[in-house]
Amino acid sequence: LKRPIERSPWMINHDSIVIVKKLGEGAFGEVFLAEFESGKGRKIEVAVKTMRSEATRDARLKFMKEARLMRKYSHKHVVKILGVAVHEHPLMLTMEVCHNGALLSYLRKNAGKIDLREKLRFCVEASDGLAYLEKKQCIHRDIAARNCLLSSKMELKISDFGMSDDRSIIHDDTLNKVPVKWLAPETLTDKIYSLKSDVWAFGVLIWEIYSDGSEPYKGMSNVQARAKVVSQGYRMPSPAGAPKEIGDLLHQKIWVKNPAERIDMTKCQKKLHEMWEKTK
Ligand code: ADP
Repeated sequence: LKRPIERSPWMINHDSIVIVKKLGEGAFGEVFLAEFESGKGRKIEVAVKTMRSEATRDARLKFMKEARLMRKYSHKHVVKILGVAVHEHPLMLTMEVCHNGALLSYLRKNAGKIDLREKLRFCVEASDGLAYLEKKQCIHRDIAARNCLLSSKMELKISDFGMSDDRSIIHDDTLNKVPVKWLAPETLTDKIYSLKSDVWAFGVLIWEIYSDGSEPYKGMSNVQARAKVVSQGYRMPSPAGAPKEIGDLLHQKIWVKNPAERIDMTKCQKKLHEMWEKTK
């Protein structure tokens, strides 16, 4: 006779997940909308990130690491993870659904139509999620508009963290495996990631929000952008139409070469909230 296996509520069965439709494509597999049936017959909508069965052991470990990391966090502006199904293939990670998809797609689709107040709200909400992660000492390492999701109520949620373990080492001369245009000078030169290099990337995210999702350092290759930022102290100009306070925040506080002199996330959050209060 088979004895029932004790499983923590965090571990879920594949049987309790019913796929509804595809939402997107991840690096290791597809992302689906699904129904999750909890113990008491209650059904809830979830997003399911899957991992292809042919994935390498390394990729599988990273998948589990993302799940373990995300489980520790609970914040309105950080995507919540609900559980993992790892007893069968494909491996699945369930999380809250963000019906309005990636921020980057939204910015591009609605270019020219998003008002300044909504852009500032995106910045404020991203800073709320990131200041929370800073307090938890979580280095995200891949902050960018492509890694922010929007809920059905258009709330911004920080997503996609814990996947970037190997990015602490740049091992590619052409620098095309890492998000070079989001990296701080000290990451580009000394491969140092920290809470402060996340702040630098947050600056690039702000820039993306006010530029309707344009590509940073447009017209420059990764190698060129890296050289200009590191050797010439080049900084992107403030996006056209962005308030002066945003430009000042980027140039005087965020894109500061020395990470020790760079503003932290909690102070960024405070500044953005002050700007927000003034719009009321
Ligand atoms: P990976 O990091 O593995 O490449 P992402 O997390 O970027 O994968 O997910 C790929 C795409 O799937 C996203 O761009 C988005 O469109 C969709 N997606 C991911 N997570 C969710 C979610 N929680 N809710 C809704 N859509 C999601």
